[in-house]
Amino acid sequence: MTLPPAEPSPIHPLLMPTFDLVVIGSGGGPDETNLSAYLFKPHDAAWQDGIIALDAGSAQGALSQLLYRNPLLFNSRYTAAEIYSFLRCYLITHAHLDHISGLVLSAGSFRGPRKRIYATKETLDDLENIFSDRIWPNLASWNEADDNYKLLYSLLTVDNKYRNVYPNVSVRTIPINHGQNDSGHYGSVAFFIRHDVRQQEFLFFGDVEPDAVAATPQTINVWRAAAPKIPLTLSAIFIECSWPTGRSDDMLFGHLNPVHLVNELGVLATEVVRFRRGEHASVRTRPMRKKQRKNPISPDDIAGALDGLRVYIMHCKDDLDSDPEKPMRDIIVPQVRALVEQKRLGAEIIAVRQGLHIEI
Ligand SMILES: [Zn+2]
Ligand SMILES: [Zn+2]
Repeated sequence: MTLPPAEPSPIHPLLMPTFDLVVIGSGGGPDETNLSAYLFKPHDAAWQDGIIALDAGSAQGALSQLLYRNPLLFNSRYTAAEIYSFLRCYLITHAHLDHISGLVLSAGSFRGPRKRIYATKETLDDLENIFSDRIWPNLASWNEADDNYKLLYSLLTVDNKYRNVYPNVSVRTIPINHGQNDSGHYGSVAFFIRHDVRQQEFLFFGDVEPDAVAATPQTINVWRAAAPKIPLTLSAIFIECSWPTGRSDDMLFGHLNPVHLVNELGVLATEVVRFRRGEHASVRTRPMRKKQRKNPISPDDIAGALDGLRVYIMHCKDDLDSDPEKPMRDIIVPQVRALVEQKRLGAEIIAVRQGLHIEI
């Protein structure tokens, strides 16, 4: 039997980026000019055709400063107001002020088409409390037909399904822990963001507490959903590391430090190995129960399991007393990298800096 000749392939699809992402702010406070805010679009579309925001701590003010320093940040020359007029929707991980203040402050002066705010019920309820005509004017509506409002609340359900939020872009939302407050558990989410045509994804975490500290582990569900896709359809993860090494568990306030982050990446590596061995695990909606596994996975087994994965570290909390030339990020990210190398996980660790243009 003769096989037909192979079709020539002009460009390997994996060599071409799927998304362009610009970092409007990547800090974890207290510097209000550099708070969590990311803008992205499919690589094959133009910025003026539509932009998706991922969290919105900083916004037009920060972008104006970035464009002053780098007028070609978006390849063509645009003003900050023009860029925000291209915005079609926001994906919001949780309603802490360092993730929403830019959205709130700019809501009264929006130009361009109506913008959807995609978030879970809890986060949309929190936003409603702000757009209440008290803390801020009521500028958002639940009503699709209510064109007077420039912002439209759009519910994301946590049903493990992908929800289309923009042409060719869908989002799967998984709840994660972000510490305790007086009423008990406080939650955030992780988003799997998929280009529907290219079937390529990236994973973006809201602020997250380590599963090792949480009353009910939930990040394991994200790792189990991610493991089968690594690295061919999922090769970029954005995750926080707010604190440096040495920060004790009782002082984490719902955030990661390098040891906990790398332990979490170790759990991901374990899930990757388990998947490759054919031991499938499903995403759980109930708490995990510890049980003995028949084939334990050793540190040698997970060596290199995350080869081909880029892990972008964000949300490092700055100490404004320290040297402004040495931001906390430059202390935390090398600590994470050293631990990843010690465990031989294989992931590439990258610091997210304000003003970066990242191709995914
Ligand atoms: Zn937070
Ligand atoms: Zn935060």
